[in-house]
Amino acid sequence: MKPFEKLLLENKAWAEEKITREPDYFKRLAEVQRPNFLWIGCSDSRVPAELIVNAEPGEIFVHRNIANQVITTDFNSLSVVQFAVAVLKVEHVIVCGHYSCGGVKAALDKQRSDLTLVNKWLMHVKDVYRFHQDEIEALSTRDAQINRLVELNIIEQVYKLAHTSIIQRAWKKEGRPVLHGWVYGLDDGLIKDLISLTPDHRLEPIYQYSDPA
Ligand SMILES: [Zn+2]
Repeated sequence: MKPFEKLLLENKAWAEEKITREPDYFKRLAEVQRPNFLWIGCSDSRVPAELIVNAEPGEIFVHRNIANQVITTDFNSLSVVQFAVAVLKVEHVIVCGHYSCGGVKAALDKQRSDLTLVNKWLMHVKDVYRFHQDEIEALSTRDAQINRLVELNIIEQVYKLAHTSIIQRAWKKEGRPVLHGWVYGLDDGLIKDLISLTPDHRLEPIYQYSDPA
């Protein structure tokens, strides 16, 4: 059996198991999507959003990219945020990164000439390093430096969310969502809470919209 064929076979078994437990399972799921959470995570295969918080299909709206970034010129992540916040009306937006992130590790290295697109994507993580260079360089091991940059990068993405008109409008008009920055440990499977911003958070004036549309 080819590796991809195993996935299709597993899918059949999974669907059958669900129907055995609850005959209307897929009918119920297909009717409406009403997740309470938007999850912005890393593409890393070891950090599957629903699995690590034991969530069912329908509970979490998910976007994943390399190093869990919110980049204000990236239509992909921003359209996901807009749909989740303005249409699905999620109450919580979670940025969840993870320790030992390969993207963050790569951002701390020289740029690879064969990865021109990835370089551009990781440039934003390099900027986070530059903002906190002294703090990161003061750490004695490479692993500690990587893991601190992982945390700082997550916190930065939470602020980047808060800087969008999408979030500021929802904060002002509907008093939601709460923004969360979490970090997942590959070695113990546990999530640590790093930061949360509530709708009454006061942003620096330069990031405030006078009238978020
Ligand atoms: Zn990662």
